[in-house]
Amino acid sequence: MMQKESERVIVVGAGPVGLCLSLALAQAGVEVCTIEALGEDNFLEQLPRAGTNHPATLELYERIGLYAKLEPRGIIAPLVHYWDRREHRLIAEFDHAHLKDDTRFPYVLQCERIKIVEEALKLAKAHPNIELRLASTFTGFAQDSDGVTARITNASGDSESVRGVYLVSAEGARSIVRKELDIDFEGFTYPDRTLNVEVAFDFRKYGYTERNYISDPDEWSNLFHWKGPPDRWRIHFPAGAEEEAALMRPEALQARLQKFLPTGKPFDIVASNLYVVHQRVAKKFRVGRAILAGDSAHVNSPIGAMGMNSGVHDAFNLADKLTKILRLEAGEEVLDRYERQRRHVALTHTQAQTIRNKRLLAEKDFAVRQRNHEELRRTAEDPKLARAFLLRTSLIESLREAEQIA
Ligand SMILES: Cc1cc2nc3c(=O)[nH]c(=O)nc-3n(C[C@H](O)[C@H](O)[C@H](O)COP(=O)(O)OP(=O)(O)OC[C@H]3O[C@@H](n4cnc5c(N)ncnc54)[C@H](O)[C@@H]3O)c2cc1C
Repeated sequence: MMQKESERVIVVGAGPVGLCLSLALAQAGVEVCTIEALGEDNFLEQLPRAGTNHPATLELYERIGLYAKLEPRGIIAPLVHYWDRREHRLIAEFDHAHLKDDTRFPYVLQCERIKIVEEALKLAKAHPNIELRLASTFTGFAQDSDGVTARITNASGDSESVRGVYLVSAEGARSIVRKELDIDFEGFTYPDRTLNVEVAFDFRKYGYTERNYISDPDEWSNLFHWKGPPDRWRIHFPAGAEEEAALMRPEALQARLQKFLPTGKPFDIVASNLYVVHQRVAKKFRVGRAILAGDSAHVNSPIGAMGMNSGVHDAFNLADKLTKILRLEAGEEVLDRYERQRRHVALTHTQAQTIRNKRLLAEKDFAVRQRNHEELRRTAEDPKLARAFLLRTSLIESLREAEQIA
């Protein structure tokens, strides 16, 4: 289908954010050109990343017909546990059932990013308003008073220009758009790495639930369950930058796992990787017709599972505003509101909470640890406090607060 270039939106990146944005726009009648560097042959060969989808995000997936595709591929997880690793003691159990009057989905869906992009890509391919350009690498752009011209290297290796009325960078943390606009990515990078190991083993036999945050002054951990076959559990450990090569050796991975849970038998390791963790928020989310969303605008520690979730929230917020502009129901100033709302959430919710989460798990001071654990326990046991806690951790509060921002 020939698209009207003067009215179409160019979305760079077919990650969860780019695909949700493309689908929300297309379903509202807006034409979209989605540019993705990966092609059919390697689209699904992406490293394990996000996977916990919070209730508010599930509502948004439902709006674009994505939830029904994801639920059978994921695990419904109403519970989240906080553990003290030193004493192998459950500190607190939170039940999302406390949110039953706040959301139609009082649980998280454990469903990995790769499944989300696979299903969303199928929906995008089937939508007549979306021109999907796979195996096409975005290399830069220029904007003028009427629109935006993106430069791409297409599937045949040729340079090409793509014209549209707005350009959204959903390219992830290394956003070329952000760099070309010279927007500061303010924040910091943690000195230690995170080691991710995936094993086929049922940790529920040892009291764990589908999502576990495990505090320890020496070696904090996260433990999450994913649907197979075979079912896998992902364990995170802190890792010093200097020990990278040694850490990835199978015997070193087995030793870490045995230290975590001494079963006496080797674990069936399915995959492992190391990643660097950043806490950064772009100084601006928009310059003229170029707009940042998702990891391109903000990156944070995965402890708390907020990066992709808040990026998807950006996508829907932005889709509504771009749709209104293109229907002539709103002026461009609504894009300033997008920045005010979503930058506020990135700084005061996503970033602040994930920094706190890491501190909580890694706390070394014995007395502070005891206080933190006691507070968690009291919060989980009091239904009112538990609901307030879950409204925050599930990012429902962040959406409500953003709505109040003019
Ligand atoms: C180990 C780990 C666990 C995580 N767990 C969670 C979790 O449980 N919950 C959560 O909410 N978040 C989690 N996150 C964060 C989450 O993965 C990211 O926030 C999320 O993937 C960001 O989505 P995005 O669409 O903005 O960018 P990305 O997922 O990075 O997608 C960007 C897309 O753009 C494409 N692209 C990049 N450059 C170009 C270019 N020049 N031209 C064309 N295409 C391009 C890429 O190929 C990719 O498809 C985790 C992260 C890690 C590392």
